Order: sequence, then structure tokens, then C-alpha cells
Amino acid sequence: RLGKNSFSFYSSKLKKEAVEYTQMVTSLKQAIKNSELELYFQPQNEAESGKIVGVEALLRWKHKDKMISPDVFIPLAERSGLIVEIGDFVLRSAFKTVKKWHEMGILWGRVAINMSARQLTHLNLINTLKNMLKESGCEASWIELEITESSVLENPELVISLLEELRGIGFYISMDDFGTGYSSLSYLKNLPINKLKIDRSFIMNIRDEPKNQIIVKTVIFLAKELGIHILAEGVETEEERSFLLLNKIDSIQGYYYAKPMPMKDMEKLLQE
Ligand code: C2E
Ligand code: CA
Ligand code: CA
Ligand code: CA
Repeated sequence: RLGKNSFSFYSSKLKKEAVEYTQMVTSLKQAIKNSELELYFQPQNEAESGKIVGVEALLRWKHKDKMISPDVFIPLAERSGLIVEIGDFVLRSAFKTVKKWHEMGILWGRVAINMSARQLTHLNLINTLKNMLKESGCEASWIELEITESSVLENPELVISLLEELRGIGFYISMDDFGTGYSSLSYLKNLPINKLKIDRSFIMNIRDEPKNQIIVKTVIFLAKELGIHILAEGVETEEERSFLLLNKIDSIQGYYYAKPMPMKDMEKLLQE
């Protein structure tokens, strides 16, 4: 009891979680210093030709011979604020890689980079990006920035003006995980985006889910009418691919073509 009308509960479970959280944050800090973070790359293929038209950069944490999934450590990084430092690392290595691939003449498309909400609204983002363009010698048009509906939700006005500024510099903007957030339709109307990525949850089991078929068909149609590029995420089977092709999807990303792979393997694939 804290007195007056307030009291609080204490449990050993909460304490254990707090300790685990602190330990993870400490090792994540060390991971940045010790270069345990590395970008993997997954191709995005044009639906009709199967040609690689872009690449998404996906972060990996190699910790004591284990691979820790970004689904685990990105939320942790966001909560602790480490995401800004990690985000800078991701931007810097992705810019360096896309510059190299353009110089080698093996990639004509873009490299897509995931931006977390906190990174997007960080005061310095525009300056950071401009400096990185200068430092790396990259053109903004080689870079695609992936944002999610949830980062728009927090502060729509700010995000809309930020995205307009980013587009003005020449960056290409994608809406990731499309369909899993809120108010998707008003965002389509108000956000300056170039591309929609339909979330994997609508693609999985598409054969047995007539509702998903209708949603996917309609979203493809909607994007086309609005002049937005449309990609399907998490395509694994020939059946999924042919359904999407039939319904005129622009591009496809998924295990059907390739899993995310280390930089050198992606380089080989691009050369081939
Ligand atoms: P995401 O941006 O939606 O990335 C797609 C995820 O789906 C990736 O998981 C990818 O490996 C996986 N995937 C791709 N194709 C298939 C498929 O055919 N089947 C299945 N089952 N999965 C597929 P990953 O690499 O584990 O990344 C998970 C999430 O972590 C990402 O989801 C993204 O939200 C976040 N993330 C990854 N890298 C970064 C980063 O550099 N910065 C930030 N802020 N977030 C990142
Ligand atoms: Ca993504
Ligand atoms: Ca996604
Ligand atoms: Ca996702």
C-alpha cells in the first residue's frame, strides 16, 4: 500500500520479465558494437517474367551462434530507443550495398528498407538520409522506404508531410503489411505512396479462403486504378503465384522465388 487511495502489486513474474528485458537490451547494445547485426536480402520478382526487379533488406542478429528473429528484437529496439542507432546501421549498409550493385551493373531496381515508426518520426531523419546519400554516392531513386500503417496511425499529419518531403528528395515509398492495420482506405487517399505490399496473411491458403481471394483481387484492382504498384508478400506456392498472375499482380516476393539470404549470395543471384 502506498497510502491514500493507491497501492501497487508486485510479482516475481514481473521482476523476471524486467530482468530479461534489461539483459536483452544490454546484449543488443553490445550486438551493435560487436557487428553481430547483418543485412540479408530477399528478391522481389516481376510477376509475369519472374525477373528480379528489386530487393528487400531484412535485418539479422547473429548472437552466440543463434539467429535471433527481427520479430523479437525490433520491438525491443523500439521500446528501448536503440532503434535509431540500429536504423542508422541498416540505412548505411543498405546504401553501401545498393551503390555497389549499381556500379557492378547487376541491379537496376531498388533496395527496400524497413522503417520503424520511431525512426520515421525522429527529428533528424531527413538530414540523416540526405547525409547518407552524399556519403554513399547513392541516388534517392535507388532507395525504397517501407513504412507500416501503424506508424501512420500515431501521427498522420506529421507522417504525411514527412513522406511528401521524402518523395520530393526522390525516395520511393511503400506501404508494408497492407491490410493488417487500420483505416487503410483513407491512407490510400491521403498518403503519397508508390507501392502497396499485400500482407502474407491474405495470400496464405488462398485456395481454401474465398474471402481472401475476393480481398486480394479487389486490392489489386484498387491499386491499379489509383496508379500504385502492387506486390504480394509471402508467396510460397505455384498455386498462389498463378492466382496472383491471373489477377494481374505487378510483383511477387516470397519463398516461391527465394528466401532472404546473405549479401554475397544475393550478389551471385543478381549476377546470374
Ligand atoms: P516484413 O517487413 O513484413 O518482412 C517480411 C518477412 O516475411 C520477413 O521476415 C521474411 O523473411 C518473411 N518472408 C518472406 N517471404 C516469405 C514466405 O514466402 N513465407 C514466409 N513464411 N515468410 C516469408 P523476417 O526477415 O523475419 O522479418 C520480420 C519482420 O521484422 C519484418 O517483416 C519487419 O517488420 C521487421 N524487420 C526486418 N528487418 C528490419 C529492419 O531492418 N528494420 C526494421 N525497422 N524492421 C525490420
Ligand atoms: Ca517489409
Ligand atoms: Ca511485410
Ligand atoms: Ca510483417
